[in-house]
Amino acid sequence: VGELEPFISKFGVDVLRKRGINELYPPQKEAVEKGIFSDRNFVIAIPTASGKTLIAELAMVHETIKGGKCLYTVPLKALASEKFKEFKKWEEIGLRVAVSTGDYESKDDWLGEADIIVTTSEKADSLIRNQAGWIRNISMLVIDEAHLIDSARRGAVIEILVAKLRKINPSARIIALSATIPNADEIAEWLGAELLTSEWRPVPLYEGVFYPGKVLRINDGRVTEIKAGKSLESLVKETLSDGGQVLIFESTRRYTESLAEKLIPVVREYSDENPELSEDILLENDGEMSNKLARCVRFGTAFHHAGLLGYQREIVEEGFKKGKIKVVTATPTLAAGVNLPARRVIIKGIRRYESGIGNVFINVSEYKQMAGRAGRPGLDSHGEALIISKTKNEALELIKRFVMGEPEKVISKLGSENHLRFHTLSIIAEEIANSEDEIENFFSSTFFAHQNEFTMKWEIKRILLQLVKWDFVNADGSLVATEIGKLVSKLYIDPLTGFIFKEAGKRFSELTDMAILHLICRTPDMELLYLRKSDDWIEDEAGFFREELTYFPSYYSAEYDWFLKEFKTALMLYDWINERDEDIICGKYGIAPGDVRRIVETAEWLLHALTRMFEFMENPMTTRTARLEERVKHGVKEDLVELVKLKWVGRKRARKLLNAGIKNIEDLHEKRNIAERLIGRRIVEKILEDTS
Ligand code: ADP
Repeated sequence: VGELEPFISKFGVDVLRKRGINELYPPQKEAVEKGIFSDRNFVIAIPTASGKTLIAELAMVHETIKGGKCLYTVPLKALASEKFKEFKKWEEIGLRVAVSTGDYESKDDWLGEADIIVTTSEKADSLIRNQAGWIRNISMLVIDEAHLIDSARRGAVIEILVAKLRKINPSARIIALSATIPNADEIAEWLGAELLTSEWRPVPLYEGVFYPGKVLRINDGRVTEIKAGKSLESLVKETLSDGGQVLIFESTRRYTESLAEKLIPVVREYSDENPELSEDILLENDGEMSNKLARCVRFGTAFHHAGLLGYQREIVEEGFKKGKIKVVTATPTLAAGVNLPARRVIIKGIRRYESGIGNVFINVSEYKQMAGRAGRPGLDSHGEALIISKTKNEALELIKRFVMGEPEKVISKLGSENHLRFHTLSIIAEEIANSEDEIENFFSSTFFAHQNEFTMKWEIKRILLQLVKWDFVNADGSLVATEIGKLVSKLYIDPLTGFIFKEAGKRFSELTDMAILHLICRTPDMELLYLRKSDDWIEDEAGFFREELTYFPSYYSAEYDWFLKEFKTALMLYDWINERDEDIICGKYGIAPGDVRRIVETAEWLLHALTRMFEFMENPMTTRTARLEERVKHGVKEDLVELVKLKWVGRKRARKLLNAGIKNIEDLHEKRNIAERLIGRRIVEKILEDTS
């Protein structure tokens, strides 16, 4: 790494050495040779764990030494903190590193001081919408996981970010990091970038398929038969007895849970007991799922899916990295998110259930993501990925389809109406475009336009008509956003959500808690709960609230089923703010604690947006919605709102304290003994420490 000195300084090289990086990996060398320190754009499409991030880090360090400012965008909040921790090592040579994933509708002026800013794509777009002045100084944009342009929900914003940055600062450099995809060249063309692709891996990967008795391993296109056990358990045993760890992908949450439990007798032979980890899993929740997880973790297995609470996921990930947990069963989301390699990756869920269609194969690119997790650098001589099948014939078919298969192309998803509507309002509000031609011109610089020949003239016309009708855009003369249109854009909500809120603000000056919760569930920005066959009771409950709600379709209308989903979600939130026990909520609605928290977080954000809009419209309900926002955030009735603002005081502890007449921190000091008896001495100490 000594040869990097002219680009990242002698001190920079020292930082690398301290991290144990003494020589560049081959793709990294190639990046240097191809001009990563020049002013060219780059698309770097190489396998996971082959050192993409470090290439970007080197480029960013060079850029900041030259006086530039870098923005590094990731798809998930959790990844932002992970990268932030990694990049902080550069503070040793005076670089200022910052992370910003917080609330929308802020400028985060303090980021003006930072050299490297890590953030999610959505937050970056929101910062532009709120006209953070420092955005103009961004001279390098790094897009991590750029293949996610293909994601229906989150891909569009990546394209928009690029297009906006090019308007704001045409000379800014762009570096896109991606998994290996077949049309990386197309992305490179779009960005006017050098393309670097490679199949090199720090740990060689063997791919294969298992069926009872045999593993078919593929090497340079040739198939070798290897004798194996009869079951999945035997595969797990083999790796564990050899000192390795196993990651198993399943298609549903329920399967991950039952498999992790089923493997306990196999795994406990090779694992010490982890009573502390097991205890920690129950720190904030001791419901059914948490207890199951605690039992698994104790004996060295764990499951990992979106129903876990954030801190539980961290315990599982850290426990696995430290080797205390030997086997993790996970849903596919793990493959797209955190970096959790294992010697052997087993793909059991090679099919997925799609409603209305039945079982379908997962995408080849999803398979490659999962398989790519095999092999821990520095620990394993090779990694191995195995698909589970039942017969030899099926095994051969899976080899052809997945192991030899080519990942799907990345296809832009920007063309869908909701994305176009969302971003059209924003570019008008930011005065990036003030006419139909300018809007068209803006979209013509996206990957969508690069992939599609046709113009978007008619879609844009239609969306403009809508935005004008909703009074978010004024079209007399040149196009300008109205004040409320600008607010909607800054709040980062779908214009349709804004319209629903605006109409409610005009029509009503008094709504009940339930009606307000239902109102936010009516917007396209809310994640709704599913209806199960056993959910008939929802209808009766809805009937009970009929008079209060802002909308109640006829039983015969096409919207009725959708309405029930909205209502079910609202009712869940209603139970939450009325302090129903979290585990009872999970049972009643058929969800896990992680789902409750995710929906709560979205509801909190939407209530904030609603409050801001009511404020603007001078609707008298503002205080009410603001208070509801606090209640949703903590899951409490009105009288606990003050108490739960204290750190370490959740809804349960707060209720215990209030029942004993402790209403605030002064009371806590006064009645310290009682408090200690109720919620424990350690907790009381922590609370007092944090407020002193
Ligand atoms: P990717 O972003 O491609 O998935 P990372 O950049 O996160 O991969 O690299 C994976 C791991 O390899 C990291 O822990 C990183 O510190 C380490 N690493 C990267 N480059 C080198 C190198 N040249 N020598 C040793 N370790 C490296």
